[in-house]
Amino acid sequence: MISKTALAWQHPLPWQQILANAVRDPAVLLDQLKLPMALLPAAQAASRQFPLRVPSGYLARMEVGNPDDPLLRQILPLQAEMDMYADDATDPVGDQAAMVAPGVLHKYTGRVLLLVTGACAIHCRYCFRRHFPYAEANPSTQQWQPALHYIAHDPSISEVILSGGDPLSMSDSRLAELVAQLQVIPHVQRLRVHTRLPVVVPERVTDGLLAWLTGSRLKPVLVLHINHPNEIDAALRDAVQRLRAQQVVVLNQSVLLKGVNDDVRTLVALSEGLFAAGILPYYLHQLDRVQGARHFAVDAARARSLLNEVRGRLPGYLLPRLVQEIPGMDAKLPM
Ligand SMILES: *Cc1c(COP(=O)(O)O)cnc(C)c1O
Ligand code: SF4
Repeated sequence: MISKTALAWQHPLPWQQILANAVRDPAVLLDQLKLPMALLPAAQAASRQFPLRVPSGYLARMEVGNPDDPLLRQILPLQAEMDMYADDATDPVGDQAAMVAPGVLHKYTGRVLLLVTGACAIHCRYCFRRHFPYAEANPSTQQWQPALHYIAHDPSISEVILSGGDPLSMSDSRLAELVAQLQVIPHVQRLRVHTRLPVVVPERVTDGLLAWLTGSRLKPVLVLHINHPNEIDAALRDAVQRLRAQQVVVLNQSVLLKGVNDDVRTLVALSEGLFAAGILPYYLHQLDRVQGARHFAVDAARARSLLNEVRGRLPGYLLPRLVQEIPGMDAKLPM
């Protein structure tokens, strides 16, 4: 006789099902984590502006009963999100001005960023795109043609970055179609994917994903988004191993977030945890001034002093580059 657990092991849920089952109701979140229901009214109000969304596998990495859990803080809608500040923006990094074709952001020489979908597996409260009008930007609603046309007609573009939203929330067949069209553009050399999906749903790293990511002429780079060492678990490490076995370069970008990772010990543990999982730290972003995320802000002086201390404790190759995005600059600005 085979137990139910054994069956579940043999037939893991497909990632689409895991996404569909994500927790969206603040009451369910508080109940599962045994948190005070006093948090509910604010969570409901804030989630009307930007809905709660968290896959259960990510939720399982949080500490039950701890309202300050660093993973919970990234997804729990709070009253503070409704505070308004004069210098906050809904589009803090000038994305709308940089859109050169539907879904194409061209800010930096040599690389373009393609917003392939507005959907994400998880909703991060500090997200700088929380107000972005994805519906207008999403090229899949208008087909890829204008974006591909733009890339094909600019020979200076050697790298295409799939972003969003989360590009891996699209199906492997759609992504394979897009890559097939990109790889015939002779000046494109590299395919980069900016994603948080393999972190929150490691099941997303399917054979189908590996096939389009590594099956073209383009050199693949995957940039994950992990902010805290507790986000790294055995399933993620396994997914990264499968990517690296196929020669995918796997990097990580984090956002410096108050109450999540703004201390030396956490930043050191994050870099070490990433390396142990086969991931190299790439960027540590200073938070963009997006409306509704001020409570995550770490001021620049403190960010620099934190990084200076971290520099004293890690080999140079494990130190992320602390950067800030200033609209109009020709690259992300090292701080
Ligand atoms: C961040 C970003 C890139 C990538 O910059 P790198 O420094 O190459 O990582 C490219 N295009 C846009 C629009 C970006 O915001
Ligand atoms: S996964 Fe990325 S794009 Fe989506 S909400 Fe989080 S930070 Fe924003």
